Amino acid sequence: MPIRILDAATVGRIAAGEVVERPASVVKELVENALDAGATSVTVEIRGGGIDYLRVTDNGCGIPPEQIRLAFENHATSKLSNADQLDDIRTLGFRGEALPSIAAVSRIELCSRATGQDSGMRYTCEGGQNIRLIEDGCPQGTTIIMRDLFFNVPVRRAFLKKASYEGGLVGDMAARLLLGNPGISMRFISGGSTLYHSFGDGKLRNAVFAVYGRETAENMKPIDAFEGGTRITGLIGTGELAKSTRAHQLFYINGRAVRCPLMSRALEEVCRSRVTIGLYPMCVLNLILPANAVDINVHPSKLEVRFRDEDMMRATCVKLLSSAFEGERVLDIDALKAQRTAVNTEKVVREVSRVMPAVTSIVPTAGALREDPAERLIGAAVKTVQLRPRRGDGEVAEPPARPRVEPVAPPRPVVAMPTVVETPAAVKADSKPPTVIRKKPEAPAEQTALPPEALGASKETPYRIIGTAFKTYILVEAGDMLLLIDQHAAHERIQYERLMARALDGTASQQLLIPEIIRLSAREMAVVEDNLDVLSDAGYVVEPFGDSDIRILAVPFVLGRAETKPLFLEMLTSLSRLKAATVDARRSEVMQMACKSAVKAGDPLTDGEIDALIREMLTTGAPSTCPHGRPVVKSLTRRELEKMFKRIQ
Ligand code: ADP
Ligand code: MG
Repeated sequence: MPIRILDAATVGRIAAGEVVERPASVVKELVENALDAGATSVTVEIRGGGIDYLRVTDNGCGIPPEQIRLAFENHATSKLSNADQLDDIRTLGFRGEALPSIAAVSRIELCSRATGQDSGMRYTCEGGQNIRLIEDGCPQGTTIIMRDLFFNVPVRRAFLKKASYEGGLVGDMAARLLLGNPGISMRFISGGSTLYHSFGDGKLRNAVFAVYGRETAENMKPIDAFEGGTRITGLIGTGELAKSTRAHQLFYINGRAVRCPLMSRALEEVCRSRVTIGLYPMCVLNLILPANAVDINVHPSKLEVRFRDEDMMRATCVKLLSSAFEGERVLDIDALKAQRTAVNTEKVVREVSRVMPAVTSIVPTAGALREDPAERLIGAAVKTVQLRPRRGDGEVAEPPARPRVEPVAPPRPVVAMPTVVETPAAVKADSKPPTVIRKKPEAPAEQTALPPEALGASKETPYRIIGTAFKTYILVEAGDMLLLIDQHAAHERIQYERLMARALDGTASQQLLIPEIIRLSAREMAVVEDNLDVLSDAGYVVEPFGDSDIRILAVPFVLGRAETKPLFLEMLTSLSRLKAATVDARRSEVMQMACKSAVKAGDPLTDGEIDALIREMLTTGAPSTCPHGRPVVKSLTRRELEKMFKRIQ
């Protein structure tokens, strides 16, 4: 075949492949357009996994009638006028590829009414052909409906997975966009049911509540720290919130959702003794840096980024992320109290319903496109009562509001992802100003027990030990909470911290009076050889004794002699499973096992010992989980008890 220049339609379909991979990528592009348009309320609705039907509705600035056709031209954008601006991009879009690419491979219906216009326009096309543009009385903002993705590119269509799978990916993407924009009310509807709906009140915790539920929202740890030009804000989940994949690690750079292996590694390094080996911490983290420190233009969907100085960035991230855990205690009553009141969605619901009657009059009449009246009510209500972030002394890092972008408007400022702007009760605990790190921090908090003079903070919180239930759970009354403490888990954590501290100064060993001789298989022997330094860090002194025996001269100081042999063999099994893990991870596993075994072998605690344990928990700088990530403390509030007994509604 001779060489020919391809016609525009074919070129369009080929190029579409870069941006439009599947329904989830369409959602990303359309929601980002809505955000760039200054929307405060965005709805994503799909049917058939988003392959059959996908709608995005926003209340943004809309597209002026004369520009609608242009919006569907290739490389047509209102966000960039010359190449110089590429180095300082402040909008999510700028390549002008999304609308033409999506239109080339689906049936499109777009309705838009621009700010200040009496009526809007409706644009339809099929595979980029049969374009129709008519006047239409639609509500302010833009709705795009995409139907039958890849109807005209059967090969690409065949590459899509089942609707349920694609729908799941759309849900993940919607969650990611929602969590990256807590100041925007977002709703995600799939197959007719609303799966997520955030209030857009600017509180990241409430956005997390909308996606992951109360337990997660309450238990994630806030971070807001900066050094030099770099700042990290957001929430981190460890312990029980750890997950079996990295799918719940959400990273944003200047508000833009990205994949960021660099931050992921930094997070995992910092959280090592806070999650069970083999699990991953979860997070919603925004990295804020000068636009020119990072290149976002290396990937068509702008999902991957390149940093100017990777090594430095990674070190900075580790440092900043560590600060989230500074000052934590195994038992921190004040923090628990704040945490229990951190998510107050009841209040938001009441506020919204209170203003409902007032806003019904300003709800625009339904346009030609399906619009959910409830959604508009909430959208309007949110605007009316200004549930968007407010500036307040106690609040952390309020993001700049997204200005409404005029169609050919100056780009909005770099968006700091709305950070942890808390309800008043939570502000108390979380309201420390961003941690500024100037010098190298000392050894991470979890590795050193605090000196006694640092006990001040928790001394004032009154508490009363009620007793022990089932020889396992210590009951404590503290303020308006009833605490249930798993004494074994608590004890294990404290032993672990002690062992860790001793490992650091080389005093983890306890000499055995009579060395223990253990016969090993060839495989076990190899595991010992591979892990000699790991074992010795934890306190074991081991030497070969003939061909198939070893002699254990010393054990971790937390252990008694009786459990030496069975525990050692169990550790070897565990180490052989962890073959590929880092030295740190293997060392941590050995120590964790030693502590667990030490606690198991212990007798039930006396009253005096319980007392001492609680005091130690209040002062030990470490996470409130056992070293394997199981929780140490659970709480019931007085309110919950009163509800339980129907004293209140
Ligand atoms: P880009 O976002 O890179 O500019 P797109 O193809 O996604 O390119 O969109 C083209 C143009 O259409 C945008 O620059 C914007 O002016 C306009 N546009 C698209 N979606 C919307 C929307 N939801 N609200 C207002 N304007 C929009
Ligand atoms: Mg775009």
